[in-house]
Amino acid sequence: MTTGFTMTIAGEAVEGASTYDVLDPADEAIAGRAPVCSPEQLDQAVAAARAALPGWSTTPFEERRGFVLAVADAVEAQLEPLKHLLTREQGKSLDDAAGEILGFGYWLRGTAALSLPETVNEDSAERLSVTRRIPVGVVGAIVPWNYPLGNAGFKLAPALLAGNTVVWKPSPFTPLVSLRVGAILRDVLPPGVLNVVSGDAALGPRMTAHPGIDMISYTGSTRTGRQVMAGAAPTLTRVTLELGGNDPAIVLPDVDVEAVAEKLFWGAFANNGQVCLAIKRLYIHRDVYEPLKRALVDYAATVRTGPGTEAGVRLGPVQNRPQYDRVLGLLHDSQDHGHTFALGGPPRNQHQGRNANGDRTGYFVPLTLVDNPPEDSRIVQEEQFGPVLPLLPFDDIEDAVTRANAGEYGLGASVWSADQEAALAVGQRLDAGTVWINEVQHLTPDVTFAGHKQSGFGSESGSEGLLEFTTPRTITVRRGGAPTALLPTT
Ligand code: NAD
Repeated sequence: MTTGFTMTIAGEAVEGASTYDVLDPADEAIAGRAPVCSPEQLDQAVAAARAALPGWSTTPFEERRGFVLAVADAVEAQLEPLKHLLTREQGKSLDDAAGEILGFGYWLRGTAALSLPETVNEDSAERLSVTRRIPVGVVGAIVPWNYPLGNAGFKLAPALLAGNTVVWKPSPFTPLVSLRVGAILRDVLPPGVLNVVSGDAALGPRMTAHPGIDMISYTGSTRTGRQVMAGAAPTLTRVTLELGGNDPAIVLPDVDVEAVAEKLFWGAFANNGQVCLAIKRLYIHRDVYEPLKRALVDYAATVRTGPGTEAGVRLGPVQNRPQYDRVLGLLHDSQDHGHTFALGGPPRNQHQGRNANGDRTGYFVPLTLVDNPPEDSRIVQEEQFGPVLPLLPFDDIEDAVTRANAGEYGLGASVWSADQEAALAVGQRLDAGTVWINEVQHLTPDVTFAGHKQSGFGSESGSEGLLEFTTPRTITVRRGGAPTALLPTT
């Protein structure tokens, strides 16, 4: 067990009012003990962020850019210890953990290259009018457990660059790397600019309702997103919501089956399917349905699963017990309804994370391909967020588009074809914030992504994502006599 985790408030290490055990999902051993932030400590974190706001928001943009780059350097310098800690608390392979930490640095650097716009509305003898973007204030960053650091980077980089101060709350299931990063950054950022708090299920709702927080930047499930919005309503706190998805991929009949199988596999199963933008419904033209199904099964057999700490393992356990139970529940529902499993299915000798002898087994779910379940089944209609994928044949592209666009989500989608134009024509009809042709999950810090329908609102990344952390301020000067110069920028 790794010990010594503290919160970061006003640049200082702070013990919790109590602690709780964070479990390693591979064996349910204690990975570390995390502090539980009391209501008073949350008040202190918010007060520290507010106290730091005047200084940080008026720090010149170029200097803030330098701080964001320094954050990236400081975190990457700790790659080795952080990657082991991330694997222990999250379950992903060590390579994937390293990728997430380096991705955090990449995201911060890419975001630091962005700028805020300034509009000169009028510059006449009579009047000077300029609209600038100023920070929103104190941002509450609420993050899920699938990419504890990656998802945080999407928020911290633009929030800090734009001049906001932050209270960062990781998921209770994966607080350790975030707490460690908070500790690393005590020497990098001015006190109070970034505060890191951890705790139980009460902490998130307390943040959304906190009158000292000006904006909640939330990533997580659609169900919780509704609660966040309701919690923020009394204080009219601004929210951005990056929520769930049930992304369709449509495979046209002209694909090179062998070539796409590997890409589709990782599009669905990377991070054990625990990706908001994972392929979660695979619509395959009937002409290539059987060969592609076989190719996916064959490819899956080459992928080693097990504890993320073991050499050669590419996919680990599901991250936590409630999610494990949920994914097994979906598999049992499929089994009960007589669905065919082309691969996997509910584990035979494993129930509730224990084997027949009652030993703890960790939250391992077999890689599963469900062969043509009914469109209205739970495995198709619900976001699985685990290593489970329904394969769905179609004959007519109109039917595939209609099925792909059905449902409450609209996060991502992809179309796969040898004919780029044909794929594009289909892709433009899909109701999703991001549509890929012949690839999936390709994200960069300069490109905006946003959910349609109940996948959320507001955006992250790119210039639009940066603007979310700002609010416009127009200053108008009625000129009389000597012309007023343009106002100084901060
Ligand atoms: P979750 O909604 O259970 O929790 C997310 C975070 O919200 C956690 O930090 C949690 O403690 C906090 N929280 C819980 N209840 C709260 C409340 N009432 N008020 C404020 N905060 C609260 O989500 P999860 O299970 O951690 O994450 C999985 C979900 O996240 C999936 O649906 C996935 O698709 C989604 N996700 C979306 C994106 C995106 O960019 N759209 C990215 C990653 C994950």
